[in-house]
Amino acid sequence: MGLAPLMFDRLAAAKEYEAMAGHNLMDCIECGSCAYICPANRPLAEAIKTGKAKLRAKKK
Ligand code: SF4
Repeated sequence: MGLAPLMFDRLAAAKEYEAMAGHNLMDCIECGSCAYICPANRPLAEAIKTGKAKLRAKKK
């Protein structure tokens, strides 16, 4: 799917939600595997959920 969880984490921290969409954020199924295996223990799933919520809120 071309997803890049670390990119999502960085873009969410920078509040660059549109850029997250540009990296296929909405194709993520939120399985949590990336957060589970992250050696740096980054909250990747949280960043993804935040990005999706912000994008959905913008569309309303
Ligand atoms: S939550 Fe799952 S589908 Fe989404 S980026 Fe992480 S590993 Fe991929």
